[in-house]
Amino acid sequence: MTAPDLLVIDDLSKIFKRPRSLADRLSGRPASGVRAVSHVDLTIRRGETLGLVGESGCGKSTLARTIAGLIAPTEGSLRFVSSQATGRPPRVQMIFQDPYSSLNGRWKIADIVAEPIRIHRLRSGKADIRRRVDELLEHVGLSSSDAQKYPHEFSGGQRQRISIARALAGEPEFLILDEPTSALDLSVQAQILNLLRSLQDELHLTSLFITHNLAVVQVMADRIGVMYLGQVVELAGRKEIFAAPRHPYTRLLIDAAPGMDVHDRSLHPIAGDLPNPAAPPSGCRFHTRCPFATELCRTSEPPQTVAPGGGIYRCHFDLDLSHLPDTGLPADHRHPAVAR
Ligand code: SF4
Repeated sequence: MTAPDLLVIDDLSKIFKRPRSLADRLSGRPASGVRAVSHVDLTIRRGETLGLVGESGCGKSTLARTIAGLIAPTEGSLRFVSSQATGRPPRVQMIFQDPYSSLNGRWKIADIVAEPIRIHRLRSGKADIRRRVDELLEHVGLSSSDAQKYPHEFSGGQRQRISIARALAGEPEFLILDEPTSALDLSVQAQILNLLRSLQDELHLTSLFITHNLAVVQVMADRIGVMYLGQVVELAGRKEIFAAPRHPYTRLLIDAAPGMDVHDRSLHPIAGDLPNPAAPPSGCRFHTRCPFATELCRTSEPPQTVAPGGGIYRCHFDLDLSHLPDTGLPADHRHPAVAR
């Protein structure tokens, strides 16, 4: 049985206005804007982890910050079903990429972890709050004696454990993880991913996991959304998306990702750079890099299509992606964001 929806995002866009340039003023053109997120429809079900993957600059972090309420959407809406029912704002916590800047260096760990408990009034009395902080620190693999230390006394991986303890302290109905391991050393990344995976299993968290790394979402996510230039171009279950991607960009990302179990990947690199989000290509935004592009793709934006398995994709065609046309580019011509 499918779990009920927790978050419903409807036709959401975020446009960042840019100041009018001298040329704009001279020609009388209005201020232009960058549509960082463009007409996104998304639902996240209670208890699931939705992975959102894409290259740097594709809009995934902007979408995350909009969901967290840190920035307002320009168009469209998002609603938490739980808060509609209870009338109170949802408890959303966010874990950021950089554990160095996301913790207040002047606060002791005890105060950092206790802050969401106090804000949401989840415990009362100093002793009760202190007990809860100790419990959370031990839960993430730290010691209760660490509560009296400051962030600079910890390594990057330990600081990310503190960020996780702080997020859990708020007993989040929804957790946003924005590239939580990408600033860490490789060996530490695996430890943090293991911790997050076991917390997901134990606490049945509902979360949005953002990353540029397909191998990470393969481990962490139940469903996966693929973003390209502000749009979700494909969304499907983890198994379905890796077994039978329906969008050429998804297929190319899988082929280009290091360590993914795919055949023949060295022959089909992603051609070209990510276009300027301030001036996205006409028609299908992916047509400048797509090996299947036709004249229709250059002039007409593809609608969102529902796949037989329930996933969605934005492409004019129902393509057989088992054999990609040869792009004629050298095998090492990979986009840097996916070749890392
Ligand atoms: Fe490629 Fe055309 Fe499909 Fe866009 S609509 S992904 S350019 S085939």
